Amino acid sequence: MAGMAEKGTVKETIQIFARVKPTREETSKVYSVNNDEAAGASVEFVVPKDLGDGYVNNKLENYKFRFRRVFDQTAGQEEIFETIAQPVADRVLAGYNGTIFAYGQTNSGKTFTITGGARSYGDRGIIPRTLSYLYQHIIQDSTMVYTTHISYLEIYNNVCYDLLDRQLEACRLEDLPTVTIMHDSEQNIQLRNLSIQQSANEEEALNLLFLGDTHRMTAETLLNKASTRSHCIFTVYLCGRQPGSATVRRSKLHLVDLAGSERVNKMALGGQLLTEAKYINVSLHYLEQVIISLSESRAHIPYRNSLMTSVLRDSLGGNCMTTMISTISVDKTNLKESMSTCRFAQRVALIKNEAVLNEEEDPVLLIARLKRENQSLRDELAMVTGEPRQEQLTQYEIQKLEVQVKDFLEDTDPEATLALGTDLQKIRRCFTLLKTIVSGLRQQLTIIQEKLGRANGTGNELTPLSAVATAPGPRLSIGKEEAFEIFMRDHEDRLTIEDNKAVLKQRYIEAKGLGVQVNKTRDSINELKKQLEMRRIQRADQDHREEEEQDPVEAIILKQVEAEKKEFKSYIGDLKTLRTEIQHVQLLMERAKVKLQKDFKEWWSEETPGPQDSGAPSRLQTGRPSLNSKPSSPGRPGSGGHSLSYFPAHKQQEPYSHVPSATDLRSFVPKIQTMQTPSEDRPASSHQRGGSVLELTPQLRDLSSIKPADYSIPLTGDSRIDDDILAFVRARQNLLQRRDTPQQ
Ligand code: ADP
Ligand code: MG
Repeated sequence: MAGMAEKGTVKETIQIFARVKPTREETSKVYSVNNDEAAGASVEFVVPKDLGDGYVNNKLENYKFRFRRVFDQTAGQEEIFETIAQPVADRVLAGYNGTIFAYGQTNSGKTFTITGGARSYGDRGIIPRTLSYLYQHIIQDSTMVYTTHISYLEIYNNVCYDLLDRQLEACRLEDLPTVTIMHDSEQNIQLRNLSIQQSANEEEALNLLFLGDTHRMTAETLLNKASTRSHCIFTVYLCGRQPGSATVRRSKLHLVDLAGSERVNKMALGGQLLTEAKYINVSLHYLEQVIISLSESRAHIPYRNSLMTSVLRDSLGGNCMTTMISTISVDKTNLKESMSTCRFAQRVALIKNEAVLNEEEDPVLLIARLKRENQSLRDELAMVTGEPRQEQLTQYEIQKLEVQVKDFLEDTDPEATLALGTDLQKIRRCFTLLKTIVSGLRQQLTIIQEKLGRANGTGNELTPLSAVATAPGPRLSIGKEEAFEIFMRDHEDRLTIEDNKAVLKQRYIEAKGLGVQVNKTRDSINELKKQLEMRRIQRADQDHREEEEQDPVEAIILKQVEAEKKEFKSYIGDLKTLRTEIQHVQLLMERAKVKLQKDFKEWWSEETPGPQDSGAPSRLQTGRPSLNSKPSSPGRPGSGGHSLSYFPAHKQQEPYSHVPSATDLRSFVPKIQTMQTPSEDRPASSHQRGGSVLELTPQLRDLSSIKPADYSIPLTGDSRIDDDILAFVRARQNLLQRRDTPQQ
């Protein structure tokens, strides 16, 4: 399918894959997967023949769809990454654009495949794995200098939002700045208002992904579950060049999570949802049109009809290597939709792309290089023909040299030079300056090494990660805190947090163990080195003749050193892997916590009328009596106002206030500052808690069984606390009443 037409061009059709979502239903008679065919793979559905009048007879019909490969229910995330994403990542590293997009109905596993599951490290999807892979390559490749940038955008109702924007409070999607599209004279699109953030390493990139995902999650307002109806595009921009060369390679990798592909007739019609359904339909409809036009090689391709097709223009029939994953569900009720996904994929497979090696001469770099060459030629010439000067350097000249040396040291360009001309005095002065700087650095290094040595003495290899438990944030008022305890206990995400907490604890133990091993190996290497030195001294004292012979004892020691070194390296490798996992799990936990906090905020504002609302008890009755506060249904009057402003300023402290809210996440990038170490010895009382919500005190467990009438907390006299206590009591009563009375 792929062919190198000319150097630097790859012609290839869009590669299509299918992934079947695991199901508990018995589906062996409904579909089958065949990956052994020479021509590729296929998935086949066996469904009752529909006579078109709603009447179904018992004849069966087979539908077969071809794919490059079909991943059945048991396929794991690693396999998906290796087969689908790794080849694309390789091309991106080589300077070609790449796109992977997931297409399928809501709930068929698009987000699971592209981003990953929110539960465990093993569930991480294509984005984090690809980032890992790219940065690993970037670190190892010493022949190239790379810079990487990242953007993350969400297209919802044909409006484009920047998920990485850090200036605005991202309470709702509508609060994010919108990104607009401009077409330049060559029909290339430019995205205005989209922040493209530099990310120097995997950790920073993962933090950006986390920031965007959290924005995506918290931006879902009460009115809509936006994520199923919006498209998300995570893009990595890679720029690489060889040191000394002015030729740069710029490539882009789009990882796209499309909106659910189900049709408008499947959705509940009414109000907001209809608008959304219409938009999603319109936008996927335009995608379909573009794809049909391309597959039929029509003259006009209607890219400009929608934002999404404009943004993905290159990926569809352009300068890009594109791969599509069709996510399908084989539950009986979803078969029709799954077949329409497969049908769509067959069209997509006809599209030919032509990926071009994105290499260009960077004029700025070229000019810089020519200037350098020019200067060095002049210097050479002067060196040969010029007269050395005799007088001392002036104060001004010395200062200028200092600045020059500083600039030289700070210049990241490996080819930067110190242009000093032929003046020997200047050259000498610079050497002296450099010497002073180096000896200063040496001193600092010694101090750091000593400190490290001390730290290692305690076996604490993972200090930067494990010592990050921060001081508790501002405490909640008592009433609200207790409400939070109860709310949290029943929340669906508590299990995720607890599971991951257990995983983290385990990993910390492993890391600690590895740290001990590392120290042991280091010690024994040092010990062997001492022995070796002793041995050499001894032998030097002995007969001269022997010196030339191979010393068998020395050889043995050297062999041991080699073995220990190998072990040492492998421990360090394991530690690095653990570190990545720990970081990922910590991010998962942070996300679950942010979600919990958000859900609580919504629930609290629903259950407790604020002062401006106290005269409207009807509001209370509209809320659903659910502790697992799901965002309420669309179109309900008044529900759009659930936001922070619902509370007077002094009540705006949130549970988990030590965990950054979505707004605070800007401080997350590039360093995670508020990770929490799991600890066995949490204080028992909820009021002393350092912010952990994972432990429930026995008193609080009992609290939920107390009847409203028995429930009396003495007031404190502090009006702020008392307000919250009363609000909580009201909310509880409300809730219990509604639990007792069946829903109308
Ligand atoms: P979509 O993004 O297409 O709406 P999701 O990716 O959110 O669907 O998947 C829906 C649910 O199914 C999620 O809870 C997800 O964790 C789960 N899921 C999807 N695919 C898989 C899979 N391959 N293995 C395990 N769970 C999956
Ligand atoms: Mg999704």
